[in-house]
Amino acid sequence: MIFYKTAEEIEMIREACLLNCKALEHVASVIGPGVNASKIDREAEELLRDHGAVPGFKGYRDFPATLCVSLNEQVVHGIPTNYEFKDGDIVSVDCGTLLNGFYGDAAYTFALGNVSEDVMELLNVTKTSLYKGIQAAVSGARMGDISFAIQKYCERDHKYGVVRELVGHGIGRNLHEAPEVPNYGKRGKGVKLQEGLVIAIEPMINLGRKEVRQLDDGWTIITKDKKVSAHFEHTIAVKRGEADILSSHVGIENNIRNNPNVKEVFLKEEVVV
Ligand code: MG
Ligand code: MG
Repeated sequence: MIFYKTAEEIEMIREACLLNCKALEHVASVIGPGVNASKIDREAEELLRDHGAVPGFKGYRDFPATLCVSLNEQVVHGIPTNYEFKDGDIVSVDCGTLLNGFYGDAAYTFALGNVSEDVMELLNVTKTSLYKGIQAAVSGARMGDISFAIQKYCERDHKYGVVRELVGHGIGRNLHEAPEVPNYGKRGKGVKLQEGLVIAIEPMINLGRKEVRQLDDGWTIITKDKKVSAHFEHTIAVKRGEADILSSHVGIENNIRNNPNVKEVFLKEEVVV
């Protein structure tokens, strides 16, 4: 069952999303080679709790941390450990926040130090594909239009692997609600998009093949071919004309520009959102 949100509920979700992104902004300002993954996890948790929120992932199906920290060939759901980031790592950091009864969800992939051109291109394309999906998320369209926009851009135009096993999701009073938001699909198919639908769109795109597997920790998803994977996520509300992006990467990207240890990820083309 899909829970469509009122304008007031959407503002509550926006509040959760913006606080959630503050945690990612903090990560953007401190992350770099030599930094400990569990340290940034603790700091993110502290920031959220200091603002009266609760980490959205910690305790969710027994996930042990505030952030999912997924390195290189890890796609998503990596558990932060005492690992110290290395020059050349790419790190997907995914955060969820529960504030005043509503969840926010967003993710960004950080490129630390000397990341190769082909990997930077994967990041640029994956980020651009997120906005291609958002552009398709207007009332009257269908879920498949979002899915197709992401898949076509990443798979057909750029020959990357689009992960099938993990998808975006509705969000609101629950972290994961109906409907699913696949990153692959057919135009004109699936759930009709209506005002009040709030979804997390999150392309997970592999440099190599699309196949993934889960590690024995019961969480971490990695690519089967061990090539790197990228992940960007926004929470959005479907509107007429254009989607309302409830989360924000603006502060994250400002902090990246001021962090000499992190490379900027660029949009490949102007995407109107
Ligand atoms: Mg997320
Ligand atoms: Mg999500």
